[in-house]
Amino acid sequence: MSVTVRVPAKVNVQLGVGGLRRDGFHDLANVFFAVALGDEVTATAAAPGAGTTLTCTGPDAGQVPLDDSNLAARAARLLAAHHGIEPDVHLHIAKDIPVAGGMAGGSADGAAALVACDALWALDTPQETLLALAAELGSDVPFALLGGVALGRGRGEILESLPVTGTFHWVFAVADGGLSTPAVFHECDRLREAAGTGSADTDVPTPDADPALLAALADGDPAALAAALTNDLQSAALSLRPALAATLAAGTQAGAIGALVSGSGPTCAFLTKDAEAAEAVAAALTASGTCRTARATHGPVPGAAVRTR
Ligand code: ATP
Repeated sequence: MSVTVRVPAKVNVQLGVGGLRRDGFHDLANVFFAVALGDEVTATAAAPGAGTTLTCTGPDAGQVPLDDSNLAARAARLLAAHHGIEPDVHLHIAKDIPVAGGMAGGSADGAAALVACDALWALDTPQETLLALAAELGSDVPFALLGGVALGRGRGEILESLPVTGTFHWVFAVADGGLSTPAVFHECDRLREAAGTGSADTDVPTPDADPALLAALADGDPAALAAALTNDLQSAALSLRPALAATLAAGTQAGAIGALVSGSGPTCAFLTKDAEAAEAVAAALTASGTCRTARATHGPVPGAAVRTR
């Protein structure tokens, strides 16, 4: 018996980063937006005592750890432990989300594994419990369960769904090689220190959601959303990977109405006025040689959900 769950990647349409807290985290004002680019996780029943095993296919499969650190395997074990059962399951990840790309691919797989194992083991875990288990796995995991568009506060794990009208069209330029999220936050702190503003939470104002951005989402207005896109990690990602400036410029030149680094990067995200423009921008970016590949997609889309069983 098998259950396949489809789960979306995310782009942060706003990523406001506060100062470094004493616990090592930063306060965030994080507007997550789920896009149709996604992974599929299939959970297959395994014999008693088999434990959790893992396989992965896709262009970046070689970079996905297949040991105990994999978020999908950790999710299966966490759910089993919560219910006091054995985590006997085989998980297969069909990976389409760029790895270490700032699109929360590992978190997505963690959320998908929670939903897939919950269905396979017929546990019927309440959504609030799944969200709490997801938050234990990582700051970005609860959003992959929820999907749509949501404001994340705290480390990003305190979530509130936001109203959105219509569909927005995106292009993602995938880079060669990833960027480590902790390294990008560290670079953000270093740049703040170097600029003399300080990097502690006592130096940097606590970020808040931008009312203009929330209105653009609620109104379904791509031009207003494009004007409001912000990512406080962008200068840090560009500092670690200066070549991303050329990717951002190529997409804008090709007709994107908005451009930003996705999360901690190095994937770059481009907003376009419609689906046709997204296809044209993706083709121009791929031809530009400033990225490995570029993909046209859309959103928002729902969170992790069973596709087949
Ligand atoms: P985020 O945007 O949440 O910071 P990211 O999209 O930049 O993350 P991921 O693709 O989630 O990055 O990968 C970050 C690291 O997580 C990888 O380098 C890998 O070592 C580890 N990892 C654990 N589980 C997975 C998984 N299922 N898929 C991909 N990477 C995983």
